[in-house]
Amino acid sequence: MYSIIVHGGVGVVPGDKQEAVIAGVREAVLSAIPILEGGGSSLDAVEAAIMVLEDNPLFNAGTGSVLTFDGDVEMDAAMAQGSSLGFGAVAGIKNIQHPISLARMVMEKTDHVLLQGSGAQEFARMMDVPSHNPITEERRAQWQTYRENFLRGDAGDWPKLKALMKEHPEFMHGTVGAVVVDDQGEVAAGTSTGGVFLKLLGRVGDTPLPGAGTYATKFGGASSTGLGESMMRTLITKTACDFMRMGLDAQGAASGAVNMLSNTLGTEAGIIVVDCHGGVGFAQNTAQMAHAYFKQGMAQPIAEL
Ligand code: ASP
Repeated sequence: MYSIIVHGGVGVVPGDKQEAVIAGVREAVLSAIPILEGGGSSLDAVEAAIMVLEDNPLFNAGTGSVLTFDGDVEMDAAMAQGSSLGFGAVAGIKNIQHPISLARMVMEKTDHVLLQGSGAQEFARMMDVPSHNPITEERRAQWQTYRENFLRGDAGDWPKLKALMKEHPEFMHGTVGAVVVDDQGEVAAGTSTGGVFLKLLGRVGDTPLPGAGTYATKFGGASSTGLGESMMRTLITKTACDFMRMGLDAQGAASGAVNMLSNTLGTEAGIIVVDCHGGVGFAQNTAQMAHAYFKQGMAQPIAEL
């Protein structure tokens, strides 16, 4: 039995964008269903779903990624495979359309787990990945406003940025992720993000780090969203996978992992989870986390905030 769940990030979605965001996560799931229906792999399904989300400028991944403090885009992405504990990731990658595909290439074509910065860029060139500008006019305008507001307050250190994000949860909205179990019981998870608005150049978030933003084992997989620094410190996706190894289903693992983060660091977090038996789960401690899922046998995907 196959299942897929995707997320479009935690954070409040403005009223005028809600319909389009729900349609976006639904479209991502729909793009992966024919792959799974035809006996395709969970890795192919995760990649296809995330590519759709990376191409949708509403989400903070690929085209439409948020800008750094300096007005650039540096993206992070990761792909994980459960049975082999396979993991490939890129951090701080610029000017490409699909960071998730490059992350998969790191897993499949190198002996490394994570390539960052200029090395990741060089790897993209070697793999003949075409150049693509992911900065949209809308994101640039938002960046200008946020940066001005930020500079009008105190200097740009992280506690201030965290306070700003609490006031404006929409800052974090839009990271994307997908977790799939295919017909063979193979689990895969992927996550892709532009990071957080106004991050310092060189800041790497949780997304490309195993067990933080992305993880998969033979028992299940997970992709998280929220303030990356907290995900790294709590290893939230590894925690969810450990819960599944101990026998919890996907929903129990998702709820348990978010509770753990809420009870420790208390920052905003969301997670999507799939277990090897086809169960899907999701949990967040924020008002919203755009997500959609489909389990073999359902008439159509469920997509909601
Ligand atoms: N986790 C991402 C990061 O900190 C942000 C997000 O999920 O929206 O890079």
